[in-house]
Amino acid sequence: MSTALQQQIQQFYDASSSLWEQIWGEHMHHGYYGADGKIKKERRQAQIDLIEELLQWSGVQQAENILDVGCGIGGSSLYLAQKFNAKVTGITLSPVQASRAAERATEADLAAEASFQVADAQNMPFADNSFDLVWSLESGEHMPDKTKFMQECYRVLKPGGKFIMVTWCHRSTENEALTTDEKQHLADIYRVYCLPYVISLPEYEKIAQNLSLQNIHTADWSKAVAPFWDVVIDSAFNFEALVGLIRSGWGTIQAALSLGLMSRGYDRGLIKFGLLCGTK
Ligand code: SAH
Repeated sequence: MSTALQQQIQQFYDASSSLWEQIWGEHMHHGYYGADGKIKKERRQAQIDLIEELLQWSGVQQAENILDVGCGIGGSSLYLAQKFNAKVTGITLSPVQASRAAERATEADLAAEASFQVADAQNMPFADNSFDLVWSLESGEHMPDKTKFMQECYRVLKPGGKFIMVTWCHRSTENEALTTDEKQHLADIYRVYCLPYVISLPEYEKIAQNLSLQNIHTADWSKAVAPFWDVVIDSAFNFEALVGLIRSGWGTIQAALSLGLMSRGYDRGLIKFGLLCGTK
């Protein structure tokens, strides 16, 4: 069953993915600029470094059967398939992304290893205990039911397998509730990027504990990734990007005009880049 939010997400990525790929490449996620965000590097390299740093942080050295939850156009999926010589399945809500990801797999000679389909992460069409690595890079923020999403990731994970989730969070509210102004700032981000709401990293950790995930680790990499948005803003204002934006429609234009929302969110400590990993 497709909800209004799911349709919005689908339309957002159907309309914006080819522009993103043309201007920024196949990875639709933050880059990594060193633990304190001070290292200057080329943007695509920073995105690849994020994947490598995540693998190192979570201790994943090999995988045979990977699920990429919220796969975009298969940036991580193909990278991981190649790196580990593994089978990868990617799911997305966007048919345009799924077919572009499959096309990219063929171009990279990975069609036998990587497959892509349109499916809802909160209700996945896979048997229990299917994958030894479940990877979700910046898709959790789109999920209306965070618990159902994590339950599903856990269900399809093989015993002994690893779950790695990286997602946009708001700051912890353990010591101080969100202010009206912070709530308004978050509402603006939700509207522009098609998010139902985000939660804090400690809240994600509690959900993971209730699932009986083992060896749970969390980390806040906000400092390491925050420079990403300034790099994106700089590159959004060239001629090619502007023409593409106009072609991609109002949703994409709004997202581009609002790039500053995320960097301001990091600056004031409201937005957090949260990591969680654990084993089944
Ligand atoms: N992980 C990718 C893409 C991140 S963009 C990358 O790093 O390049 C967010 C992705 O989450 C999109 O592909 C979007 O379709 C997907 N997504 C959002 N909600 C989803 C849901 N309920 N089920 C499956 N995929 C979802």
